[in-house]
Amino acid sequence: MKNKLKNYFVTNSNQISEYTVQVLTEMVSQKTVNVPKGNLSEHPYLSIPGGESAVVEIVKRELEKLGIKYEVFESVKGRANILATFGGEGTSLLVASHMDVVPAGDGWNSDPFAAFVKDGFIFGRGVLDNKGPLAATLACLKAFKESGIQLKGKFILGAIANEEFREPGEEDPGLEYLLNNHFLKPTYAIIPDIGENMKKIDIAEKGRLQIKVTAHGKQAHGSTPDRGVNAISLMSEFLVKMKKFKMKYRAHKYLKSPTFNIGIIKGGQVSNIVPALCEVTLDIRSLPGQTAQGIVKELKTLSRGIKGKFEFKIEGCSLPHEVNPDNILVKLIQANSKNILGQTPKPIGMGGGTFAKGFNQAGIPAVGFGPGDDTAFHVANEYVEVKQLVQFAHLIGAIAIDLLN
Ligand SMILES: [Zn+2]
Repeated sequence: MKNKLKNYFVTNSNQISEYTVQVLTEMVSQKTVNVPKGNLSEHPYLSIPGGESAVVEIVKRELEKLGIKYEVFESVKGRANILATFGGEGTSLLVASHMDVVPAGDGWNSDPFAAFVKDGFIFGRGVLDNKGPLAATLACLKAFKESGIQLKGKFILGAIANEEFREPGEEDPGLEYLLNNHFLKPTYAIIPDIGENMKKIDIAEKGRLQIKVTAHGKQAHGSTPDRGVNAISLMSEFLVKMKKFKMKYRAHKYLKSPTFNIGIIKGGQVSNIVPALCEVTLDIRSLPGQTAQGIVKELKTLSRGIKGKFEFKIEGCSLPHEVNPDNILVKLIQANSKNILGQTPKPIGMGGGTFAKGFNQAGIPAVGFGPGDDTAFHVANEYVEVKQLVQFAHLIGAIAIDLLN
């Protein structure tokens, strides 16, 4: 069966690569830019954030041409998801890509939404993050169909909304909606959203904590600062201490050490008032074994000795996760990569989060693995090598044959 697939990719390489480029170019032309609702006016072509249904329509049309079953799930109008299935029942492998993109930003040498190919590379917003892998997954389904591959288990293509930005306090119309309602429950998942040119497998991701620190001082007239307690001064003492802040943790083979970033600072209203409040928001990337409460306790200890009141509030918390490097999914990615690309990808840990986290938290082993340079994400002149997209299509097909037959 794997030979059949290989022969198909060898014989039809031009046709598959043209197909991938054509579908991808069309997807890129749909400006599925995901921004906070408050920033919509900066993007006159957007009526809602994302608008992923436009890409769903393209995927749907291609699936219909191929005669592949699919279902569309929509909780927010215009922000649909589409799941396509190929094969039988039982064990299933999902390859899930997101359809939204980040804004184009500045510095492009061409129209970001008019993709073009030059010297074997395709350029445009989303060609890598994440529409390229989605087009490649469609190409894989096309290869299954046209080469007469049959699967006992089920291969699932997932095109999912809302990955790049999450409106605080609102329900997620993408992955969370699909998982919480049990529309999607694969046995395994591959998330092609890390780059690394198929040389690495993301098996572990750090947790993410957002903690708001508030320094409480006492308001007074700016001309009599001695009558007040300046909250900005209190916070500055705290921030100096933060420079030497060392969290307690057990080093992790793949995730190494936790990190923190001082991301936001707010304080004061006018210059002739001694400010009573100063707030800082920290972004902490945590390791297995660390807890939100434990980290808050360490921060409290750090604030001791500063003459003022400090308050710590956990504003967001997602836990770290890891997939065993001996998991069959990891092993099959490695074996097939060696076979097809001549390289064995290495397991790694990441500080950022992908869809893999949501799946792992739902008890589904999911790893990050995909084409492209990791430095080509979210930048001007985003690019990916067309050959890598085709190799990825072949690779996920071969992995599916091993895992599902
Ligand atoms: Zn992405």
